[in-house]
Amino acid sequence: MSTNTLNLKKNGHNLNGFSTTDIGDDHLYTGLETPMKKDAFKLSDNEKKQRIAILFEEIMDVMGLDLTDDSLKGTPKRVAKMYIDEIFSGLNPANKPKVALFDNKYQYNQMLVEKNITFYSNCEHHFVPIIGKAHVAYISSGKVIGLSKLNRIVQYYAKRPQVQERLTNQIAEELKSVLKTEDIAVIIDAKHLCVSSRGIKDDTSATVTTYYGGQFNKAEKITELHNYINN
Ligand SMILES: [Zn+2]
Repeated sequence: MSTNTLNLKKNGHNLNGFSTTDIGDDHLYTGLETPMKKDAFKLSDNEKKQRIAILFEEIMDVMGLDLTDDSLKGTPKRVAKMYIDEIFSGLNPANKPKVALFDNKYQYNQMLVEKNITFYSNCEHHFVPIIGKAHVAYISSGKVIGLSKLNRIVQYYAKRPQVQERLTNQIAEELKSVLKTEDIAVIIDAKHLCVSSRGIKDDTSATVTTYYGGQFNKAEKITELHNYINN
């Protein structure tokens, strides 16, 4: 099993003079923020669903599918609803999880690791699934967070068209801001269906991305974290 470990930079990079055709299947990403239009929320969710249903019906029609068939005729509306309400709901900041913090009454000052958070995302270059596990960890700066919120933050950023590097950094930045600490780690191990089911058709490789902030840059903290994740 091969693993591509990507070393992440905070600020991404531009296309370095290459066109998108030159880049082809090589997945580049251009920054921490998901690229959104300024008027991204001019339409309501219901208006977006109506538009998408019309456009998806057009795609199916162009491909030659018979939209009068009982099995197919509901598909455009189903896809539109799934895009807005489920798999891309993380594009809308209104859906961002509200996080309550609690005082660290137990004075627990070691790392807390929430491991094996299963998520489903979608590759923004092909719109096919990315399926993976996220492991997140933090060392409290005085406040603690409900455990399910760690999971919800991962799911929120996963529910966008994504690249794994950006997903990793967006989760890390959100945890840093919410928990008011640099001592954050995020490890994501994922399979990209655009690599396994098409293109190079490699079904055995997985992609690992990491973010280590603050104390998690120390070798002994990384070893400790990896021990918890792997046992
Ligand atoms: Zn892809």
